Amino acid sequence: MKLVLLGPPGAGKGTQASNIVKKYQIPHISTGDIFRKNIKENTELGLKAKEYMDKGLLVPDDIVVAIVKDRLIQDDCKKGFLLDGFPRTDAQAKALDTELQNLEFNLDYVINIEVDKDALINRAIGRRICKECGATYHVEFNPPSATEICDECGNELYQRKDDTEATVKTRIEVYLEQTKPLIDYYNKQNILVNINGLQDIDKVFSDITDVLGSEK
Ligand code: ADP
Ligand code: ADP
Ligand code: ZN
Repeated sequence: MKLVLLGPPGAGKGTQASNIVKKYQIPHISTGDIFRKNIKENTELGLKAKEYMDKGLLVPDDIVVAIVKDRLIQDDCKKGFLLDGFPRTDAQAKALDTELQNLEFNLDYVINIEVDKDALINRAIGRRICKECGATYHVEFNPPSATEICDECGNELYQRKDDTEATVKTRIEVYLEQTKPLIDYYNKQNILVNINGLQDIDKVFSDITDVLGSEK
């Protein structure tokens, strides 16, 4: 299964991604997670990406495209993968198409999670992430059993620096301008599936699996 998850910041892509990759046994490729890992490890890539991320802006296309290309050529992607948060611009989508052709891969579906602006801001502001394993929670909508502690691994949760109201608003603007047009791009390729992201996490997931089916 070769998939792309599309949707505005805070739509629930990461949350659904972790369920999808578990069920279909495919690697989860999240460009945001890759950047956050690099920031945590103080790498050169991390330093560069942080400049943009803290402001709510997109990391330049050439940097993101190089990372995704390197990842897609790895052996575990032959059986499938889930791209989460990539592509986010027209240039990235075209670069992805070229790379997929080189690898003789076809995308099965682009899953577009739809959520309106007010809900996005609340979701992002209440988001908490595990420092160790990256599991995502929400203080109100998906709280951990013990406050600020990860259910999966017992480590502390933190709030992303870019999950403030002002930065989320910038990210939504950036999404509307640069990423939203990709809905049309993939609709024209006849692989777009729209999912109502304003439902419970479990209902969103069952709507997705209704489309993807039960086979791996
Ligand atoms: P994205 O990866 O699209 O930015 P996340 O999966 O990190 O989004 O979700 C953003 C926040 O909203 C998280 O705190 C998450 O727990 C919460 N969330 C995700 N899906 C839902 C949902 N269907 N209903 C309510 N809250 C949700
Ligand atoms: P969200 O879904 O909440 O926007 P992500 O974790 O996907 O969060 O992305 C966080 C930040 O990482 C983005 O605001 C952007 O700065 C950077 N980023 C992630 N993916 C990309 C991408 N494909 N192109 C450019 N920048 C990206
Ligand atoms: Zn954890």
